[in-house]
Amino acid sequence: MKNPFHVMLIPTLGCPSKCSYCWSSEEGSPIMSIETIREVVAWLKNFREDRVTFTFHGGEPLLAGPEFYRQALPLLSQELHHLNPEFAMQTNLWRMTPEIAQILAEYHVPLGSSIDGPREINDLQRGNGYFEKTMRGYEIAKAQGLNVRFICTFTNQSVKSREEIFNFFLTNGFTLKLHPALPSLRSENPKQWALDPEEYGELLVYLLDKSLEHLHDMDIMNINDLCRCVFTRQGNVCTFVNCMGNTFAVGPDGGIYPCYRFVGMPEYVMGNVYDHPSRQDLEKSDAWKLMHQFRQYVDKACGECQHIKYCRGGCPYNAIAPTAGVIQGVDPHCVAYKRIFDEITYRLNKEMFDSPMMEMGFTSQPMKRKKPGVMSLMHKMVSG
Ligand code: SF4
Ligand code: SF4
Repeated sequence: MKNPFHVMLIPTLGCPSKCSYCWSSEEGSPIMSIETIREVVAWLKNFREDRVTFTFHGGEPLLAGPEFYRQALPLLSQELHHLNPEFAMQTNLWRMTPEIAQILAEYHVPLGSSIDGPREINDLQRGNGYFEKTMRGYEIAKAQGLNVRFICTFTNQSVKSREEIFNFFLTNGFTLKLHPALPSLRSENPKQWALDPEEYGELLVYLLDKSLEHLHDMDIMNINDLCRCVFTRQGNVCTFVNCMGNTFAVGPDGGIYPCYRFVGMPEYVMGNVYDHPSRQDLEKSDAWKLMHQFRQYVDKACGECQHIKYCRGGCPYNAIAPTAGVIQGVDPHCVAYKRIFDEITYRLNKEMFDSPMMEMGFTSQPMKRKKPGVMSLMHKMVSG
């Protein structure tokens, strides 16, 4: 059970919201049948022995309705109990009802939702009424004891209000996870909202400072993850590991893709759960081979970079989807990754070098400093 894997289940690509920068929803998308879940079970029974996490993603997964989850969760959990399945869901919460919340609570499903800051900023980019509908769903989920975290998408517009957005998360006691708006390949003007990589890098440095300033009152997931990467010299979130072979997504019709981001793009189908493919079968697909070629490309293109061990060229979707599957470069967010990894490395080295304990050897205790630094953040994470 050494190599956990991740299966994202995409019950539909449909979504009741119309966020301006969305790149993943599709009108009229069918809803996954419970039969397809049965086939997921049959496919995974002998696929591998490792621990599995299922994430219900979309589109909007709650469109599948309560009956789907009432049947899907026990099927996956009981029939695959030898894989110790865990569950998660990414949802805008609009269709949350006490009934669905109860079912999800029974299986301890943590929820990720999306809110881009205070109502005005959020609704400007996600559409009028979004904020209220999501908050209503949040209250229902909370009332059933569900754990909800919010992802905040920063666009090239909202990044100008970063202080206001940060304060919104801080005063509401929300953990912050940020997401840069990607070019929407389904839009006529793909870059209209996309966050420029340089701006993304500066935003990460700003949030690093905010994270240290509010060390004990707030968590910023990305900053924690990035610091952990540098400190342990190992990637720990999908962007910074070789996701290939350990992450799969299943679309509404049972099609198997390398990740939810590719669902609905026929050229990235690797197989179908109805055929119960083995890993060797999936390896024969063009999509698998392309992802593998990307990894080989990264070994060369990033070979001189001091961060390659824990960055691994970033996200393959970001690198190859905008160029229609032609490998022309690594993840365009490289600029941002370099900026923040350089900054964390510099601060870490400086703090260690400046530490009076250096003369006596390394200590796991944080230094008594006037201002907390990245070592204080590491210490906070290690001590839980
Ligand atoms: S393709 Fe990108 S988003 Fe998908 S699992 Fe890999 S790194 Fe993560
Ligand atoms: S920071 Fe850029 S060059 Fe370095 S490993 Fe990551 S993607 Fe490659």
